[in-house]
Amino acid sequence: SISYLNGEYQPLAEARISPLDRGFLFGDGIYEVIPYYGGKSVGLMPHINRMINGLAAIEIKNSHTAEEWKTLLDDLVERNADMGENLGVYVHISRGTDVKRYHPYPENVEPTIFCFCFGIKDPEPLDRSAVTQYSLVSTEDLRWQRCHIKSTALLGNVMHFQEGYSTGADEALLYNANNELTEGSSCNVFVVKDGKISTPIQDNQILPGITRRIILDSLKSDGNLDVEERIITMDEVRNADELWITSSSKEIAPVTKLDGQPVGNGEVGEIWEQAFKVYTASKFDF
Ligand code: PLP
Repeated sequence: SISYLNGEYQPLAEARISPLDRGFLFGDGIYEVIPYYGGKSVGLMPHINRMINGLAAIEIKNSHTAEEWKTLLDDLVERNADMGENLGVYVHISRGTDVKRYHPYPENVEPTIFCFCFGIKDPEPLDRSAVTQYSLVSTEDLRWQRCHIKSTALLGNVMHFQEGYSTGADEALLYNANNELTEGSSCNVFVVKDGKISTPIQDNQILPGITRRIILDSLKSDGNLDVEERIITMDEVRNADELWITSSSKEIAPVTKLDGQPVGNGEVGEIWEQAFKVYTASKFDF
């Protein structure tokens, strides 16, 4: 696979950076993952805009316009077309390589820009009996208070993911000290009760997921399902009829088990199917 590193294209296995890179030393960087199906991206501009906002939030220099980023990423996917039909593009921008390890933002370093492609799965079938079902464990969200920044410093997320993974679960569902749902360790969360869909409000406790945004916007413009952003308590999560996790790689994935208990009646819900249909029909428009 062909990777991009600071303007150079080379086999991924040959790409090299300095151990003094601040991405390596401090997790001082911003990243994105963008899915492409059959060469067509989902949410490319929203992903690029979130990345540009993240760079601004931590004062990393951004040397490309949104259009230039688009060209760079589309081109990398084309160069890697032999890797498969469906590809994810990983983009990583660290503050750069300084001459010493020293906390403050250095003045004259060039950011390190690294991108590579990896194969992703086909979209799941629009079929309640055939779709992959997820099992989650809940745990208190012990990450930092700037979860809206898509930072490469992911140790908090990795440790939460591992809590689920080590017990055989697929993901960790996180709640804050007020017993309110935040998100998953690598995904956003939606709940359904009595036909009403809700997801936590977009604040510093969650990543503003692009899949979440596409779901909200496409369901609102479709107009057939009731959807809102609000504070959701864990009691509501435990009494939900349906629970979904969403991300660029999972799209909308139904959760049928939480902490060993069935979600709703323990089967994939019909609102999931309706929402996934709407999402699938319009995802390439974003
Ligand atoms: N929340 C977290 C913590 C994530 O890491 C991710 C994606 O990896 C998401 C939510 C979902 O975001 P998106 O839909 O933009 O992939």
